[in-house]
Amino acid sequence: MATNFCEIIEVSPRDGIQNEKTILSTAQKLSLITRARDAGLRRAEVTSFVNPKRVPQMADAADVAAGLPPGIRSIGLTLNKRGFDRAVDAGLDEANFVVVASETFNQKNQGTGTFDSVAAFGAVSADAPDGIGLGLTIGAAFGCPFEGDVSVARLMAVVEAVMAHDPHELALADTIGVATPRDVTERVAAVRAAFPDVPLRLHLHNTRNTGIANAWAGLDAGVRRLDASLGGTGGCPFAPRATGNIATEDLVYMLDRSGVETGVDLDAAIRAAEWLEDALGHPVPGQVMKAGGFPSPQAA
Ligand code: ZN
Repeated sequence: MATNFCEIIEVSPRDGIQNEKTILSTAQKLSLITRARDAGLRRAEVTSFVNPKRVPQMADAADVAAGLPPGIRSIGLTLNKRGFDRAVDAGLDEANFVVVASETFNQKNQGTGTFDSVAAFGAVSADAPDGIGLGLTIGAAFGCPFEGDVSVARLMAVVEAVMAHDPHELALADTIGVATPRDVTERVAAVRAAFPDVPLRLHLHNTRNTGIANAWAGLDAGVRRLDASLGGTGGCPFAPRATGNIATEDLVYMLDRSGVETGVDLDAAIRAAEWLEDALGHPVPGQVMKAGGFPSPQAA
């Protein structure tokens, strides 16, 4: 991958709508995914295979998987073996298994301890059929809503445990949006020093307005895979006061103007974000969708 290319993984169909009062229909979700693809996004978290009683917004995961448009690599989020098996049955390209860095949050998110989840990931990884990618996200990698700071030592203990099971990609998630650019620089460097070969991905929330700065810090530290959500939608049902991801179109704007290629068309991404805002029925936090790109077409 060229060093001036950054892959954007679109997470609005999963993270972006999982915490919304308005539950989008399966057809609306598929329309969202198609609009993302048409904007040039080529990889997306399309759903999660979790307990529909706890996350009713994702109850139609298998139907979404069955209706996916071609031309976009699909990822399903899973918290355990049961969810992974559903992702395999649904025929997704990849599963993304989550382990949370802090014990309390892992308990609340998936009903078991952090290292029990690591063991579950190990069992899944050992048995995974060929043909499905298996990535690993470490949630609350920068801080926990219940325990507060998560030390670099604690994070690295979890990283080392999960890396023993050979994920094809490792994502660090700032689930509750507490990271600062310095944290990103420090933690990415620590992971890259220990595991230089694993592709690193960042999942950043903009809860405290540091998200886009953190994305730049990640890029600067060598990360070439960034999650984002159209319109800046998003939030975790099990993290108090969690708010949206960095907005896809805001990230595209920054990268475009900085000479970093993404393959995403800014205007098409803005239109997709506007469509999502309409579908959700309330304003969303994205900023470039309000201001437009620059220079504006009229100025040309
Ligand atoms: Zn998230």
